[in-house]
Amino acid sequence: MADRVQMKNPVVEIDGDEMTRVLWRLVKEKLLSPYIDLKTEYYDLGILSREESNDEITVESAQAIKRLGVGVKCATITSNAARKTEYNLRNLFPSPNATIRAVLDGTVFRRPINVSRIRPSIPSWKKPIVIGRHAYGDVYKASEMVIPSAGKVEMVWTGNDGAEKRITVADMPAAGIVQGMHNLDESIRNFARSCFLYAIDEKLPVWFAAKDTISKIYDGRFKEIFNEVYETEFREKCKAAGIDYFYSLIDDVAARVVKGEGGFLWACKNYDGDVMSDLIASASGSLAMMTSVLVSPLGVYEYEAAHGTVQQHYYRWQKGEKTSTNPIALIFAWTGALAKRAELDDTPPLLAFAKKLEQATLMTVEEGDMTGDLARLADPAPPRILDSWEFVDAIAKRLS
Ligand code: NAP
Ligand code: MG
Repeated sequence: MADRVQMKNPVVEIDGDEMTRVLWRLVKEKLLSPYIDLKTEYYDLGILSREESNDEITVESAQAIKRLGVGVKCATITSNAARKTEYNLRNLFPSPNATIRAVLDGTVFRRPINVSRIRPSIPSWKKPIVIGRHAYGDVYKASEMVIPSAGKVEMVWTGNDGAEKRITVADMPAAGIVQGMHNLDESIRNFARSCFLYAIDEKLPVWFAAKDTISKIYDGRFKEIFNEVYETEFREKCKAAGIDYFYSLIDDVAARVVKGEGGFLWACKNYDGDVMSDLIASASGSLAMMTSVLVSPLGVYEYEAAHGTVQQHYYRWQKGEKTSTNPIALIFAWTGALAKRAELDDTPPLLAFAKKLEQATLMTVEEGDMTGDLARLADPAPPRILDSWEFVDAIAKRLS
């Protein structure tokens, strides 16, 4: 095993739940460990481990990413009432991704993995559309209240020096609901910076969209800060990279995206990014063909698959079925993390391996070996559908 690729520094390995946890092990065993002397700092974010640690392990894993610079994460269950019963949980913790994003204050970039056999649902799309999702605040950190009956709802800011601002949200004539959300100038600024840095790296024009005609102060602030960051820090660098910056209203951009040919970074506010990344993923092919990276202004990176734990497949696997779950996004999460590790540590053999594994994976699909989700979309259709184990073996064969 002396000829395995060596790593200088570890990556933070964050294990997860259900079917993705099963595939995680498989990918490591068949596609990574035989070729790399894998160095990781391991955190188990499986739902029971989070419960046992009172969710502290989630924060610890985020801090480890801060310390080591690169993490790779498996999909995890976000607990809810049904999961509480299923796993006999004492607590409902927030989504681990939200917790990690809050620690790293990063922007999530989601990029479809294209293969020529899979045509996007939108025929005009020729190049990937990358979504940059602001990963802090808005509705994900909102406070909500049920209003039991008629009354006045107010919003109050009390400064640390006692100063006060107060406005009426609504004079409610009857029962209803209310929500208060926030964001921070610095987080928006860092969001804009992460987007321009990513776009310059990838040579992609930046489109940013919000609804500042309706939300003049809140969305207006996003527009203003984005513009200011572009003008003061990135105009020249973008010009040098041959890319430009474009702002428009979210509904206008949504319409343009469908008519365009792709090949740009679409910077989205938190909720827009959540929704649009699933729309882009599904229109590009399969949820399993989307990679995701959290780029923090601290200069640290967390890679993951964009999909969830593929719960229904897991239940079938538990009954003994060999499911045809697609591991490509998980594989690309690992290759993304290893390539970044290689870049930061200046270890070209590790970078070369990451690229080789990506090519072997794509070649496997191009040559007609694929899982069911892709087989349904492929043109020409493959002669047969592989289960996850056969598919990973098919990649391993091409790797060696
Ligand atoms: P999901 O796990 O993404 O799966 C939704 C459906 O998409 C699956 O039933 C499957 O469709 C298809 N799919 C997704 N990934 C696939 C893959 N790799 N290969 C083949 N098909 C794939 O979403 P979910 O069922 O809504 O959520 C399940 C759990 O994941 C939840 O507990 C949720 O909290 C969690 N989650 C975690 C993350 C994260 O950690 N980043 C993100 C989202 C959701 P078919 O059934 O039609 O085959
Ligand atoms: Mg989503």
